[in-house]
Amino acid sequence: MKNTRKCPKCGGTDIRMVEGFVGSYGVGNSIMVGRTTFSAVRKNTYICCDCCYTEEWLNKDDLERVRSSKKAHRI
Ligand SMILES: [Zn+2]
Repeated sequence: MKNTRKCPKCGGTDIRMVEGFVGSYGVGNSIMVGRTTFSAVRKNTYICCDCCYTEEWLNKDDLERVRSSKKAHRI
């Protein structure tokens, strides 16, 4: 959906994106990969305005922090 600009569920093309944010006390649309909010990575939400399907994506720049986090277990 992020790359195709098309909803994988209904084929709709009215896609909107809300940028993730990190607020105090862990509030926000983010993942805690360290001890504090300073190391949180933001999740951007893609929303299909035709069927309400949503998808979340991290920023590529944050992947290294996820890989080096002790909280992110490889499965
Ligand atoms: Zn849709």
